[in-house]
Amino acid sequence: MSMLNIILFGPPGAGKGTQSEKIIEKYDLFHISTGDLFRKHMGEGTDLGKLAQEYIDEGNLVPDELVIKMVKVKIQSHENAKGFIFDGFPRTVAQAVALDEMLTSQGLNISGMLALEVEDEELRSRIRLRGKTSGRADDQNDERINNRIKIYKQETLPVADHYAMKGKYHGINGTGSIDEIFNHICMVIDLIK
Ligand code: AMP
Repeated sequence: MSMLNIILFGPPGAGKGTQSEKIIEKYDLFHISTGDLFRKHMGEGTDLGKLAQEYIDEGNLVPDELVIKMVKVKIQSHENAKGFIFDGFPRTVAQAVALDEMLTSQGLNISGMLALEVEDEELRSRIRLRGKTSGRADDQNDERINNRIKIYKQETLPVADHYAMKGKYHGINGTGSIDEIFNHICMVIDLIK
């Protein structure tokens, strides 16, 4: 049986974390959320956490080199997984190229990109709401939130084209109930797996 490797894509606040949890449970995939990994490093005060903190707090991207190295270690230490779900990664075309190379070198590939599509205004209000409980510095003010959305458009959206050109892009309406969105995701996964 081939591995199921999914990229869960979308702007900040699109619901990637929420849907990832449900996907992992149903399909038994290994979750790689670069945002969660960085927050763990920051919480533990590791060297990587210290390097990443300033970028993250301001809503800027952490340099590719650091992100790619961190993901490589995770993939290599879970070679026996049934598959991976990449959440919040890749966020630049350079990261996408590096991911494709990492997988190819192990005889693997990306099964598909599932892209949650949500309007900007809805994203802002979801992030502001999350900010009340997340404790995340980057959820706390409109300037940082707007910066993240701007960077998503400039740096991250081209990653969707990268996978669209390979016929791997699957758009999912990211508004509606959590279960409606999840059902749509499952339909797509069952088609590509
Ligand atoms: P997230 O939890 O996915 O919203 O990520 C939170 C923050 O971590 C982002 O705003 C970035 O500062 C940083 N980050 C997470 N993933 C990446 C990535 N793939 N490339 C660069 N920075 C990232």
